[in-house]
Amino acid sequence: MTALLPTYKRFDLSVAKANGTTIEDTNGKRYLDFGSGIGVCNLGHRHPGVQKAIEAQLQNYWHTSNLYHNPIQEEVAELLVQNSSGDHVFFCNSGAEANEAAIKFARKATGKTKIITFNQSFHGRTFATMSATGQAKIQQGYGPMLGTFEYVPFNDLEAVKQAIDENTAAVMVEMIQGEGGVIPAEALFISGLEQVCKNNHVLLIVDEIQTGIGRTGKSFAYEHYGISPDIISVAKGLGNGLPVGAMIAKGKYYNVFGPGTHGSTFGGNPVSMAAAKAVLQYVFQADFLQEVEEKGRYLQERLTEKLSELSFVSDIRGRGLMIGIECTADVSPVIARSMQEGLLILSAGQQVIRLLPPLTVTEEEIDTAVDLIYETLNNVVLEDVQKVTQ
Ligand code: PLP
Repeated sequence: MTALLPTYKRFDLSVAKANGTTIEDTNGKRYLDFGSGIGVCNLGHRHPGVQKAIEAQLQNYWHTSNLYHNPIQEEVAELLVQNSSGDHVFFCNSGAEANEAAIKFARKATGKTKIITFNQSFHGRTFATMSATGQAKIQQGYGPMLGTFEYVPFNDLEAVKQAIDENTAAVMVEMIQGEGGVIPAEALFISGLEQVCKNNHVLLIVDEIQTGIGRTGKSFAYEHYGISPDIISVAKGLGNGLPVGAMIAKGKYYNVFGPGTHGSTFGGNPVSMAAAKAVLQYVFQADFLQEVEEKGRYLQERLTEKLSELSFVSDIRGRGLMIGIECTADVSPVIARSMQEGLLILSAGQQVIRLLPPLTVTEEEIDTAVDLIYETLNNVVLEDVQKVTQ
């Protein structure tokens, strides 16, 4: 019996330490980490530049409050706005809080309450972000959701047009639905969506919590679509493992979050900010992002080459280093077996294997992972066939 609530279904792996793409368990067994803590340690575990920045900040101060100026917050905000369509930043501690801020912000900015989101989207676990999430399994057991969200099919512009009414404040969308199964938004859908939002004075909120901070080979995934969102939410990779989230908004909405209207005790914590500054200075370099794009292409090519002969692999998709391998059966035995073989991978829904390796992953590590995935998929399926024929 444990003193923890059973909130998470955990694998039988107790982490002792981690470095780069490698995790070591308490028995000394080593694993190649192709999940990065669900897309968090984008620069690998304990990246030396980030670690140095954190250690330096620990010597200065750990926390005061948002009643005083925090110069590193200013620097991180500057880096975010220089590299996005936004002009001003609010800092918080997680993805859900970033989206929560975005929801409140959009409602206050427009004086309207309805927010349109998409089927199989994921936006977080607070009450508003759970209500925004288009997945019944996330909402189950919590009674009525907030009634101001309407869910429409993903990649369906007509459905958005029909859902928009005079009370619509915003549309909230992921560029690649992560938890929902690594499903990329279509180019025409996103350009059309931006136009529809503009025509109807509806804010476009892009949830970049999983896709942002270099994950897809651009600073933010919306850049692939050539759009300019009104609000962007980020978290996960921003602190490379330290908790931090941010909501970035366009300049014309500067006064929406005036003093006392929103806040967070820990938001913009100086140690997390030191990590975020080091992360952004590294990730937002054009040559680094180009490498991510190339490595992503290499990973998809290797996977396609190796896995397309397997009849139960139905699709390989994604962008940069955010890849989904759709299978025709439940992938949980594959994830468990892969762990035994020393490779940590994720699922996204029941039938999709999700790969989110650190952006610093090497080609050699990619080769090893692809071979292990191939072997694991083959072995798990062979075992199933044997079970059936026995
Ligand atoms: N939005 C997206 C797209 C996510 O993938 C997640 C987490 O997986 C969240 C929001 C929620 O982030 P957090 O778990 O940091 O609250």
